[in-house]
Amino acid sequence: MSRIPMIAGNWKMHKTVAEAVRLAAALRGALGNLAGREVMIAPPCTALSEVARELTGSSIHLGAQNMYPEDSGAFTGEIAPAMLRSVGCSHVILGHSERRQIFNESDDFIARKVAKALATDLTPVLCVGETLPEREAETAVEVVSRQLRAALKGLTKSEALRIIIAYEPVWAIGTGRTATPDIAQEMHATIRRLLQDLFSDPIAAQVRILYGGSVKPENISALMAETDIDGALVGGASLKAEDFIQIVEYT
Ligand code: PEP
Repeated sequence: MSRIPMIAGNWKMHKTVAEAVRLAAALRGALGNLAGREVMIAPPCTALSEVARELTGSSIHLGAQNMYPEDSGAFTGEIAPAMLRSVGCSHVILGHSERRQIFNESDDFIARKVAKALATDLTPVLCVGETLPEREAETAVEVVSRQLRAALKGLTKSEALRIIIAYEPVWAIGTGRTATPDIAQEMHATIRRLLQDLFSDPIAAQVRILYGGSVKPENISALMAETDIDGALVGGASLKAEDFIQIVEYT
């Protein structure tokens, strides 16, 4: 089963509208008609509309970094899934470790978001990953399995097929410390086995599992050489056009 590699950029809380449009324009110039690879960028919500305009006619997908799992209402500061659709988003990052840790998002809350995103025709990029103490305590598999079981609970097989999973060991995010390809592959294979148990072999074979955590032009090829690594979710290195383009164009 061939899975089209996906490289996704999470811009986090970086870039004004003008800066975001400049970066999107550079990416569009280099990557806008790429075959055989999917690219998604997730600017901050203030820049989504303008970046969408800049990406019109290109194959680069637009994603949001978060959303609230209700249609509308008194949720000051939050953004509804239909609002993201209305500015041109096709994807949404959910369960990022910064949301889990800094904003105390629980497994159950993230599960509500996943279900709501699917119901609104947004593709969830569901992040899971263990912290350093959890890895040192040898509970990484247990933690990632718990996060996944919670987020995928109750989904139909066709819904499961529409999800993209990102394994992001928290100790590798923004630290410059990448998981070795072996460590990443081991967890990706575990995740795929869990998808087999929860859904079926064909579904597990089709769902893409991205790796995230200090991905750079220098380490992308070794990561992508692993059987179960289907792409990358890139933070820091997605903020510089040259670096992100090199990552997307890995050989
Ligand atoms: C991320 O925030 O999803 C991420 C992987 O960040 P970085 O690439 O900077 O480690």
